Amino acid sequence: MPSRRLGRSLGVNHVPRKHCSYSCVYCQDGRTTTLELERVAFHPPEQVIEAIERRVAACRARGDAIDYVTFVPDGEPTLDLHLGEMLRAIDSLGVRRAVLTNGSLLWRDDVRAELAAADLVSIKVDAVDERAWRRVDRPSGVLALEVALDGIRRFAAERRGSLLTETMLVRGLNDAPASVEGVAAFLETLRPDVAYLAVPTRPPAEPEVDAPCEATLVAAFETLAARLPRVELLAGDESGPFGRSGDAVTDLLAILAVHPMQEPAARRYLAEGGDGPGLESLLASGQVVRVAHRGRLFVTLGLSPVRALATARTP
Ligand code: SF4
Repeated sequence: MPSRRLGRSLGVNHVPRKHCSYSCVYCQDGRTTTLELERVAFHPPEQVIEAIERRVAACRARGDAIDYVTFVPDGEPTLDLHLGEMLRAIDSLGVRRAVLTNGSLLWRDDVRAELAAADLVSIKVDAVDERAWRRVDRPSGVLALEVALDGIRRFAAERRGSLLTETMLVRGLNDAPASVEGVAAFLETLRPDVAYLAVPTRPPAEPEVDAPCEATLVAAFETLAARLPRVELLAGDESGPFGRSGDAVTDLLAILAVHPMQEPAARRYLAEGGDGPGLESLLASGQVVRVAHRGRLFVTLGLSPVRALATARTP
């Protein structure tokens, strides 16, 4: 699917839904149900590797270009004990590998060593002051902010490949000038290739979450740009065509497993895939539900991703 940072990305969802070390108020997957800091063997790595190989081969057979295979699950990717093994195994596919992490486990030597195999790593840095961090990211209670920040610093200092950062600004929680200045000063020490500034655009875990006003956003951008060579704003939805396998409903459910989609865009996607009425039956069966956010209607999965996709494949 099109990614705002990575071009055309094949997403790998290798962590069960909402196993995370954070429970960010803006998370598009809802509140974290398993808040944890221990690494776990979630799936046999050979199954995930085989699934990636199959998908890459299918994309290539259709002539679909892939810029990155991206480990971007519905939880924190570095919680997966097999992340490094999977990254190394798919090196032979000749596709760049990316990991989008919240950075909370980078204090661990094993996690930093495993991520060294990725061609690109993007780290979330929403706040560097305790109050804003706890209010926005709602981390596991056993994680200390200084430990998390120190891990990120060490990773950035050791990093050889591309490094991105992403900072999500939430109105009234981490958008105060002092909070943004603290983030900018911290990011400067990391020397990222690009520092992205984002605002919540999709239905968040907590309904009261909103984006900062335009003036605050512009001020935050300028604060970061004063210290960093390249800052980009992520304030829109993904653009560009989504990939297709030939089954429009299954493809739509796979997209919704990653993020909600505006309802008109979902209808368009199904119609262009030859399944115009498909959304009505998905809504009627509860596989897909409507969510209103900031005056717009989105559709998202009503079942867990595994159940939704299994149901779609059942004749
Ligand atoms: S946004 Fe990412 S880090 Fe935050 S709760 Fe959701 S999955 Fe976890």
